[in-house]
Amino acid sequence: MSFAYNTKTEVCAIPTEDKHCKKALVAGMLAIAGSKSGDVVKFSTENIRVKDLLVGLVGDLYKAKVEVVASERMRATLFGIEISNSKEMLEDIGMDTIAVHFNYDILKRDCCKRAFIRGAFLGGGSVTDPTKSYHMEISTKHLTIRDEFLRLLMRFGIKAKNMERNGYHVFYIKGSEKIQDMLALIGANRTTLKFVEVKINNEVRNNVNRRQNCELANMDKTAAAASEHKKALDKINTTIGIDFLPPDLEPIAWTRLENMEATMSELGGMLDPPITKSAVSRKLKKIIEIAKTLEQNEDNREY
Ligand SMILES: [Zn+2]
Repeated sequence: MSFAYNTKTEVCAIPTEDKHCKKALVAGMLAIAGSKSGDVVKFSTENIRVKDLLVGLVGDLYKAKVEVVASERMRATLFGIEISNSKEMLEDIGMDTIAVHFNYDILKRDCCKRAFIRGAFLGGGSVTDPTKSYHMEISTKHLTIRDEFLRLLMRFGIKAKNMERNGYHVFYIKGSEKIQDMLALIGANRTTLKFVEVKINNEVRNNVNRRQNCELANMDKTAAAASEHKKALDKINTTIGIDFLPPDLEPIAWTRLENMEATMSELGGMLDPPITKSAVSRKLKKIIEIAKTLEQNEDNREY
């Protein structure tokens, strides 16, 4: 099962005791993801727990007619739910008018606002497996509740962005921190922990990659420097000879020629007395300068 499916299954198991919260939960599911034709509200889900939860809550709260039709679709079962004969439910969920609206009467309490958001996620939400990317979204077909829903999320410090996709208004959240906040808000504690664990693994892996890249880059630099030194020393050797280098440069020249793989600090340690990495680098730069001068003199002679 997908990460989103499992998250919904977890959220469905959160106990909702109070009638006010139950109503808000149903409203969240239906106002976000339900559609209305006449006085019939339709809702569909692939998640059997979401189906059971909604059917159970509606049966518990309202005298309504509830019908469920299961159909096979691709590799999943789609549950289509039709709820009719409940004027009270239509009012509660904000579907008693032509356009779906927010019914603030049932969203006064903080607990109910949370329950509504939980319902919205169960109805139209999705969250990507954090090993793949950080993305969470809730989508609805109802333009009329888009701004209210964004404001509701804002009340809990969740800044969702919004875009249009295939006739849906999609509220989405990017970034691991924000998604964690949202998961915590809808009470998906187990998923939040799993999310944090994956995030830490991702970070460790990224750090290892970064460090390896860094080490490779350093190795490249060492190799590039070595080849430059080799070229300079060869030039000197075939023209004036290493022996003719100034006395302060001669030891490092020989040491370098004999240890082409060594780093600057390793070379410094090989000298007697040892010298620092920056002293090695300074001396080798002078050697390169000398080689360049020799080269230029040769070039001049050709003219
Ligand atoms: Zn409540």
